[in-house]
Formats: sequence, structure tokens, C-alpha cells
Amino acid sequence: MIDERLKIMVKQQLKQRGIVDERVLSAMSKVERHLFVNKSDIDVAYDDRPLVIGCGQTISQPLMVAIMTETLALEGNEKILEIGTGSGYQTAILAELGKEVYTIERISSLQNDAKNVLKKLNYNNIFFKVCDGTIGWDEKAPFNRIIVTAAAPEIPLRLFNQLTIGGMMAVPVGSRYSQELKLVIKTENGEMKVENRSRCIFVPLIGEEGWSK
Ligand code: SAM
Repeated sequence: MIDERLKIMVKQQLKQRGIVDERVLSAMSKVERHLFVNKSDIDVAYDDRPLVIGCGQTISQPLMVAIMTETLALEGNEKILEIGTGSGYQTAILAELGKEVYTIERISSLQNDAKNVLKKLNYNNIFFKVCDGTIGWDEKAPFNRIIVTAAAPEIPLRLFNQLTIGGMMAVPVGSRYSQELKLVIKTENGEMKVENRSRCIFVPLIGEEGWSK
């Protein structure tokens, strides 16, 4: 039954809406979203929308997870920094597609829950930290890819500085209520190139290079 709902989600919400990266489609066909939602939401786990996960936070809409992941153009060998572990669903997709995922969450209870689910699923290429993710993870830098799953007022420069040359960051930037998903690339000479991808709505990134509470 869940299998069927997962297949329909991938076909109708992702393929039919323009997701073409076969590796992304395959990872999203494998990771079961119902394992990452609140028990009371299991019946709606494959719906086309974000869901509340507690502490005022959300698990993103499947299409948005796919768009952000596709934007990162992962090939399998990347060291990835994720800001905003949330439920851990996006983390699992990244762990399927890259080499290592370093994930930061500011709310420890959310990260504990996510860690428990991800450990049960036997992911051993995910590393966890609770802190303000806008300052990044200096000891583990540089990263080939950075994904920010909360809305920033501006491109976080400390995160940009933790990218490798040729590295890429996907980050929603805009107001607290509406943003543009941006792909930020660190060019050969270390400069910043920015492409706009799609409109989106995320919960705010709270921290030094984000919004104040
Ligand atoms: N990707 C997640 C998933 O698949 O469930 C959804 C993430 S949710 C939209 C955004 C998360 O970013 C929230 O859990 C929130 O607590 C977290 N967050 C906000 N500001 C943060 C910061 N400065 N550092 C780390 N996490 C932050």
C-alpha cells in the first residue's frame, strides 16, 4: 500500500512536473517519507504538501525536496553540508546520492528524532551537529555542496566561504514569507555566480546570518 503511494508520488508529483534526474527519482522512490512524519500524519505522508513536524517546523513538499536535490547535480562523490535537518527526510535523500552528509539543526529535539530514524535505516555516512547552521561547520569544510533548507534574508557568506572551488549551494533567499531558490556557484577564481531557479516558501533560517527569532 505504502509502496503504491510512493510510486504515485514519484510519477505524478515529480516526473510529471519536470524532475528528470534519474538518480534523484531513484532516491526518492527508495526513501519512505512516512517514516519521517508525525505518527498522526502517516495517512497523508505522500500528499503533495509540506507537513508540520513539531516545534513550528515542517518537512518540505516532495517536489521542493526533488527540485533542491536536482539543483545540486550530485554525482556520488560529494561531501555535502545541510543546514536544517528537520525530519531528516532530505538528509536521507542526500545520503543516497552523495558520499558524506554533514547536517546541522538548531533544535536538538528535532535532530534527535531525525537521527534515530536515520540510524534505524542504517545510514552510516551522515554526521550530526546541533548549532546555528548559518556559521557552517568550519572544522569539516570545505564542502562540494551546501543545501540550506530554510529561508535566508541574503546569501549566507560564511557558508559560501566553506564551499570548494567549483562547489555549489542551493539556498532560498527572500523575505520571511516568500523566496527565490538560488543556485550559488563558487567559480574557478573563487567568485560568486548566482542563478535563480524557482519561487518557494520556507520557514525562516534563524541565526547570525539569518533572521532573528
Ligand atoms: N529538510 C527538512 C526535512 O526534510 O524535513 C526540512 C527542514 S525545515 C523546512 C527547516 C529546518 O531548518 C527546521 O528544522 C529549522 O529548525 C531549521 N533551521 C532554521 N534555522 C536554522 C539554523 N540557523 N541552523 C540550523 N537549522 C536551522
